[in-house]
Amino acid sequence: MNLSDTIVAISSPGGYGVRGILRLSGPNAWELAQSVLVPHATKMLPRRWIDVQLEPWGVRSGLLLFKGPQSFTGQDIAELHVPGQPVLLAHLQSRLEAAGARWAEAGEFSFRAWHFGKLDVSEAEGINATIHAGNQRQLAAAAALRNGELFKWATGMSDSIADLLAWVEAGIDFSDEPDVGIIQADEIKGDIQALQGKLAELLSHTDRWERLDRLPAAVLMGEPNVGKSSLFNALLGRDRAIVSNVAGTTRDTISGMCETAAGTVQIVDTPGLEHSDEALGIHMNQARETAAGEADVLILVSDTAAADHLPQLPAPVIRVRSKCDLQPTADHVGWHSASARTGVGIDALRENVGRMAYQRPAGAEQRMALNQRHVALLGNAHTALTNAENVAAQWQNAPEILAVELRSALDIIGQITGRVSRDDILGRIFSHFCIGK
Ligand code: GDP
Repeated sequence: MNLSDTIVAISSPGGYGVRGILRLSGPNAWELAQSVLVPHATKMLPRRWIDVQLEPWGVRSGLLLFKGPQSFTGQDIAELHVPGQPVLLAHLQSRLEAAGARWAEAGEFSFRAWHFGKLDVSEAEGINATIHAGNQRQLAAAAALRNGELFKWATGMSDSIADLLAWVEAGIDFSDEPDVGIIQADEIKGDIQALQGKLAELLSHTDRWERLDRLPAAVLMGEPNVGKSSLFNALLGRDRAIVSNVAGTTRDTISGMCETAAGTVQIVDTPGLEHSDEALGIHMNQARETAAGEADVLILVSDTAAADHLPQLPAPVIRVRSKCDLQPTADHVGWHSASARTGVGIDALRENVGRMAYQRPAGAEQRMALNQRHVALLGNAHTALTNAENVAAQWQNAPEILAVELRSALDIIGQITGRVSRDDILGRIFSHFCIGK
């Protein structure tokens, strides 16, 4: 990939919009941007909004200039902010190309940023994750990646492995020198275990990108006939589940989407608790437990509002006293009264479900999402460290073997940030980017 020419791309979404952006990066970015403008006397100051007019129609636009290396790519950048008009953008693009700019390949701006040391690979992946985020949870998790959280972690990890490796290599290179105190086997083993602990801690404090891809789920649970299916239909605003006064009508889980102010929530109706040992009863109980295990919110429905003791449950709980049209009673603390028949309390319940489903656990906003590549690399690093741990006890007999395992762990961690890069990995990462990013 040529990095010394000037590239151009439309960096705003396609179609008509309030604003369209053309971005240029490279040594001639500023001059090329000015070649499509009506010449005027204002100074070309970086990081300032400059009012300009496009040639030949005099369309009022804005120009933003960034001087490398203090720019996103590390090169000179020019951004033309023009009306989001596809014909105008296409015209400007072809004029800029005719003037010498090259149409950028997918991800080329971020690739340049990485190449010029402005971005590591995991931060670039954070940008890509932000672009493709489908919901608020993904957006928050992508932000942590983009802000370099994984980069900081991987850098610290690399430093610790490199320190250990330095001791081992010193043992190989200077084994005859009395001054070089060789590190003991149990010390090495302890250090390797501490590194494995760091790996485990990272994995337990991060989300998986794929897991965040689904909508949050709220699962209705309760005894048969308490009105779960009726609430399900009322929350969805249509008759999706069959409602019947025959207990056990819902035999498997059913789900549907419910719009709330916080976002779309998947509502899951489950079969009522079956007190039978027959095969169907067991299946119904299993279906309910599976749904409950994946729930972000549990909606526990009861038509009596007995203030019973709640067992330990896998997700936050909303308690609903159903059929409140039959027995209007004062609200119990922490209970929602609702009637699927009259609609009383349904809107408030729906909004509460939305709020809780989109509420992330304490500290979760700092969590980043690891993608498949990160998880695979961390798994490989763990294997390399386990191999190192296995040879640690005998390391003074064959220090080279321990060094190989530690170097392998170091290389793998380096691939997370792109410090130790392999062209195929980089090519794959950047090719997932959009043009202009
Ligand atoms: P599920 O077995 O828990 O899913 O309960 P259903 O939704 O199938 O309802 C059981 C019975 O209670 C049906 O006869 C419904 O018509 C009735 N029911 C459900 N919700 C209400 C309600 O809000 N008010 C009244 N009066 N009856 C209801």
